[in-house]
Amino acid sequence: MPIQDIPNSSEFFYMGVEHIMIGYDGIIELSDPLIKYMEYEDPEGEVEFWESARLKLLVYTGLIHEGFDFILKSKICDVNPLLLIKNNPKELRNKKSFSDCLTHNSSDLPDIVNSFCTKPLDKRFLELFELGRNRRNKIRHSVDKNLKVQAEEIIKETLEMFSFVSPKKWVEVRLQYAEEDEVLNLYAAEIDFYRGKLVKEFIVLDNLLKPDFFKKHFGVDKNQERFLCFDCVNLDYVEEVETAYLIKKDNQKFTKCMICDNEDKIAPNDFDHEGCECKYYSVEHGQCICCGGSVPPVFSNKI
Ligand SMILES: [Zn+2]
Ligand SMILES: [Zn+2]
Repeated sequence: MPIQDIPNSSEFFYMGVEHIMIGYDGIIELSDPLIKYMEYEDPEGEVEFWESARLKLLVYTGLIHEGFDFILKSKICDVNPLLLIKNNPKELRNKKSFSDCLTHNSSDLPDIVNSFCTKPLDKRFLELFELGRNRRNKIRHSVDKNLKVQAEEIIKETLEMFSFVSPKKWVEVRLQYAEEDEVLNLYAAEIDFYRGKLVKEFIVLDNLLKPDFFKKHFGVDKNQERFLCFDCVNLDYVEEVETAYLIKKDNQKFTKCMICDNEDKIAPNDFDHEGCECKYYSVEHGQCICCGGSVPPVFSNKI
């Protein structure tokens, strides 16, 4: 009987995405206090924090790298999954399932992709892939204060590497993953819990990414004026984080969210909110897109 259970390309891709997302979740979680330490400048607390985070960083980095291995495997699988098998043909006699076979090491995968796939891997991707392979060593030997730098680099490199190998945008895949992952979270209430999580990590990225990098991944100038997206930010549960920017379509104004991509029609807001120079409100939500304050029905009826 021929070898059974040969995986297909999309199974490998999905597995890759899951590994990357779980690793990334962990790094982002570690990077949340990172902001706190940046703000409060507490060097002692920071050193202590990163020393205890070292093992976690190692595990998460490993997961992310393994995820990219799977994505490369999915590319090879597109040509022929048997190219992944490393065994000598004689050793295959007793193998029943694909999972009984040895597959190529991580370091060999880029060469296999570049030899058999129509589209070779970008040089920058190869550079980052190699960096990722050595990352665990770096983390093991880093002095504590440099561990924070390692975490920041992993976040940026993951976004960049993903852009080279995924047909979909990072934010789109991240949103989809977070939505599916919510099912596993016992504490997720009826509200969109995962959106809050994405908003929180948006704050990390906003702090971390330089303007050119931010623009490359979100398609928007970092310093552009931003507003609330009521699909992502539920003000009862999440602090005010502005993730949407203004766009014009058919002579009408909308906000477009960087996280969920939703477009929300807006109208000029001349209602006076205390302490808020409101310019627009969301027609659908009846709330000011600057402070979230309700727009009174009498005002809504005028439009
Ligand atoms: Zn949104
Ligand atoms: Zn307002």
